[in-house]
Amino acid sequence: MEASKVYFTNLRTTPSSNLLDKMERLVKRAGITNIDFKDQFVAIKIHFGEPGNLAYIRPNYAARMANILRSLGARPFLTDCNTLYSGRRSNAVDHLQSAMENGFNPISANCNVIIADGVKGTDCREIEINGKYCKAPKIGAAIVDADIVLSMNHFKGHEQSGFGGALKNLGMGCASVAGKLELHGTSQPKIETDNCKGCNICVKHCAHDAIHLNDNHKAVIDYDKCVGCGQCVALCQYEAAVLASWDTSERLNYKIAEYTKAVLLDKPNFHISFIMNVSPECDCWNHNDAAIVPDLGIAASFDPVALDKACADMVTNAPVLGGNKLSEAHPHQHLVGEDKFHMIHPDTNWQAGLEHAEKLGIGTQNYELITV
Ligand code: SF4
Ligand code: SF4
Repeated sequence: MEASKVYFTNLRTTPSSNLLDKMERLVKRAGITNIDFKDQFVAIKIHFGEPGNLAYIRPNYAARMANILRSLGARPFLTDCNTLYSGRRSNAVDHLQSAMENGFNPISANCNVIIADGVKGTDCREIEINGKYCKAPKIGAAIVDADIVLSMNHFKGHEQSGFGGALKNLGMGCASVAGKLELHGTSQPKIETDNCKGCNICVKHCAHDAIHLNDNHKAVIDYDKCVGCGQCVALCQYEAAVLASWDTSERLNYKIAEYTKAVLLDKPNFHISFIMNVSPECDCWNHNDAAIVPDLGIAASFDPVALDKACADMVTNAPVLGGNKLSEAHPHQHLVGEDKFHMIHPDTNWQAGLEHAEKLGIGTQNYELITV
């Protein structure tokens, strides 16, 4: 397969060219204006950051991106889907509040925010791709309704997938709550009986008549009837209906690739990654541990696979400086050339996801890096 172009700019600035100017130059050089944005709804998929975590992408970049898109005739909106786990982004009301607090409001981000899978994460569509692991990924409705998808990705470590970049932001981040259950789980959900309040919501909404309350007013799942649709997990507000087990990193990354295919299916798309604040874990935590490498730059491409590979290679080839998880574990070593994500999360395998994405035709790991 022919090499995909990945455009890159470092973080050096001058009084006449700040980082926002550099990002704009980067995406224009990468060819974003070749997309016909006129009157198109553009979903800018971004992670608003769990409150307390400060490693997420600054809203200033989103504001400039929204301005560029509007100047090209687009109707952009910032979006993300709700989380599967508890926290302050597990329903649209808390999620919107968190986004506003972190600066994704009409003043700082100059763009409206839509939580793509609705109030309780149930607003999704199934996109048939007939994947090996996921036949019909469940994608947040607002993202499905968008005409164009643009991902803004914070590149950092991730405890289950190895790293989080474009594929993770798209494949996992655009999945509705039921979709995230499919991505993470190998089987049906379970009930944490101690947490169950007997509110009956899961019973009322289970379309397969697979849950009832027992004599102690606790939910019980009939596994002969349960099809693993995840509605009860999406609707339970007490962390009682939860994921039963976690998948392996390989299978998780295969599924993320298949979900990415569903998100991008038949839509023009473009991707920007920020290799800054490369924290060892993802932005879903309410804190961000010290970055494992120095801030490197911003990269952009039409190919999310090539973009992820280029970013991973840059982190591999960057030195580990002091004061972080890796430098503490490996004192006096700069670890240039080492796969740092695998060192931090030995059970993960990010290469598996990129290889599967290649097989699915999403892009190629073969890239040409062009410095802007
Ligand atoms: S929705 Fe949650 S808390 Fe309510 S009955 Fe079901 S499992 Fe229990
Ligand atoms: S996963 Fe779906 S089918 Fe199974 S108990 Fe929950 S709502 Fe019912």
